[in-house]
Amino acid sequence: MKIAVAKEIEVGERRVALVPDVVARLVKQGVEVWVEAGAGDRAFFSDAAYEAAGAKIVSDPGYLWWEADVLLKVGVPQEREDGRSEVEMLREGAVLISFLNPLGEPAIAKRLAERRISAFSMEMIPRTTRAQSMDALSSQASIAGYKAVLIGAAALPKYFPMLTTAAGTIAPAKVFIIGAGVAGLQAIATARRLGAVVEAFDIRPAVKEEVQSLGAKFVEVQIEEETVAAGGYAKEVSETAKQRTQEAIAEHVKLSDVVITTAQVPGRKAPILVTEEMVAQMKPGSVVVDLAAEQGGNCACTEPGKDVQRNGVTIIGTIDLPSSVPIHASQLYAKNLLSLVQLMINKEDKSLQLNFEDDIIDAACITHAGEIRNSRVKEALATLVGIGNG
Ligand code: NAD
Repeated sequence: MKIAVAKEIEVGERRVALVPDVVARLVKQGVEVWVEAGAGDRAFFSDAAYEAAGAKIVSDPGYLWWEADVLLKVGVPQEREDGRSEVEMLREGAVLISFLNPLGEPAIAKRLAERRISAFSMEMIPRTTRAQSMDALSSQASIAGYKAVLIGAAALPKYFPMLTTAAGTIAPAKVFIIGAGVAGLQAIATARRLGAVVEAFDIRPAVKEEVQSLGAKFVEVQIEEETVAAGGYAKEVSETAKQRTQEAIAEHVKLSDVVITTAQVPGRKAPILVTEEMVAQMKPGSVVVDLAAEQGGNCACTEPGKDVQRNGVTIIGTIDLPSSVPIHASQLYAKNLLSLVQLMINKEDKSLQLNFEDDIIDAACITHAGEIRNSRVKEALATLVGIGNG
């Protein structure tokens, strides 16, 4: 079996799918690993390091993609500068494992199915105990939560910690985290380590204890409807519940120095939780870091990839945060991939074996043998086609 690691071509993507340590583990197991020349450069992993780990360095991407039994990537396949689509560069029947954003960009699943690619979407790994080591959404979200706090702290014209100095006492910064999933919990922990006073809110009441155990205060909002969907994710709530939430958090936003928003509902536009009126009420110099910027943003003023100024408040629409910590983001992602790939290697003859009776393989595989296998992806595609016809 031949596993290939592609060089990411998306602008701003600095991560690489496998790091040399993980390559060495696969090679030791008898797997052949090919790495595209320069694939690890932007994450500071040199071709020489991959070669030393036992990989073959391949300069021609066309050759690497076509020869791969399993192609590993970080981001959604792209159109290349020479006009070729990466999906077309794969051989029929090959396995592709990557973040594929199949609910946001379902058209890609259609093309992968047409090409008879067995595509595994890292977003679709179940959030179960057995799949924890493969949970790339978590490994990358945790990095985003950490980095969001550092960005907020750097933009704030104040200290984070309380300080008692000869020149007077500095009060600690107040940080409000909205959405206490994986990113939000890491943001709480990071802001606490920097000495801020932290409050947090989530629509799922079950996270209250986790928030408190990290030393933050949980902001309670009474919502009279079910807020949790299958798999522990948040549900899209009614307009009434959204309004109720906005009213309840307005006072906390107003009093905060830094607001970090991380609220997301899988496959949906991010809910607007921080309105223009709330931003207008914030103190000049305050900062909003919006981790949901790529999904439309949790703040009404957010522009993805930009810093926006409103009455002295800076609203930062962060994108690509895991990519800004490329060494550790790649290291953790590579371990996630390794754990998943292990499920596909026949222990006896080291051949590729897709066992759809395994719940992880079944859930993560979105296309196989010319079919789209995932009902949510099918629904997303039907909606897209409906919009196109309408
Ligand atoms: P996510 O990125 O989908 O969303 C981030 C947070 O935003 C979530 O906590 C969500 O509840 C919150 N949110 C959504 N709408 C909101 C609103 N209107 N107001 C306030 N907050 C809102 O979430 P995630 O970090 O990917 O985690 C999703 C779930 O998966 C959680 O239950 C988490 O505990 C669970 N999880 C389980 C495992 C495991 O068991 N292996 C691993 C990771 C995550």
